[in-house]
Amino acid sequence: MTTLNEKQIYCPYCGEHITVLLNPEDLDQDYIEDCQVCCRPITMFVYEENNGELAVEVRDENSTY
Ligand SMILES: [Zn+2]
Repeated sequence: MTTLNEKQIYCPYCGEHITVLLNPEDLDQDYIEDCQVCCRPITMFVYEENNGELAVEVRDENSTY
């Protein structure tokens, strides 16, 4: 059974609130999702919080080097 977790994040480019779906299969992985508002690519890193819930960290592509 796969549960999808809806999370609200802020886009690192335009600062808008967007909703993303976290998949437990993406745990400890980076992936790219385009902002629903400004369409720029946001790097998402999915991790597990102490309480076992999925959480996501967002980065803009410019901060990866
Ligand atoms: Zn945006």
